Amino acid sequence: MRVLLVEDNLRLSTLVRRGLENDGFTVDGVGTISDAEVAIRTAPYDVVILDLGLPDGDGLDLLRDMRAGGSHIPVLVLTARDGVNDRVKGLNAGADDYLLKPFAVEELTARLRALLRRPDGALGLSLTVGNVVFDTSAREVRVDNQLIKISKKEMGVLEQLMRRAGRVVPKDTLESKLYGFDDEVSANSLEANVSRLRKRLASVNASVNIHTLRGVGYLLSDSDEA
Ligand code: CA
Repeated sequence: MRVLLVEDNLRLSTLVRRGLENDGFTVDGVGTISDAEVAIRTAPYDVVILDLGLPDGDGLDLLRDMRAGGSHIPVLVLTARDGVNDRVKGLNAGADDYLLKPFAVEELTARLRALLRRPDGALGLSLTVGNVVFDTSAREVRVDNQLIKISKKEMGVLEQLMRRAGRVVPKDTLESKLYGFDDEVSANSLEANVSRLRKRLASVNASVNIHTLRGVGYLLSDSDEA
């Protein structure tokens, strides 16, 4: 899941980013409204974390513009401002949730997961294809009820493919979900991750296949289904 973090306090931003990345999120951080606008136009975010007091304006204005422009990306507002008025204003502007500073990063990740589960059924807690079960909340993958260990990127690939099992997932969709602006994406990095994941799944007799559609993308299918 790819997150845009809009926060100008570098210390807080670094802390949040580290926490979210540990929890399996891909995070892009920006510190101004104008950078956030560019990022939102450029990448497919699953959720935006938005500070209100930003150097070039009020985060609520960005939120209003997003909603006015038809964007439905869930937005969680971070604010040090207290009081009912600010909350009401934020919710009126289209915020999906609120977190008052200071907060624990664990609280933030729990709220994000709740937000990501909300919009539609596809974002369920647990994904199952064949004998593979992916718990998107605990970030655990089980094959035949046995926990398997895979890297965060491999887990990201598997999650995207399982969410769209039976359908082709384009390469650039996968790359944009898995790699933040700061990550170096070498030419075969996605291929390398898919290849390791495929081997790992085969080694534990997972009943899924990952098909490569050369130049297009990948498709995960249940190998037991005729
Ligand atoms: Ca601020």
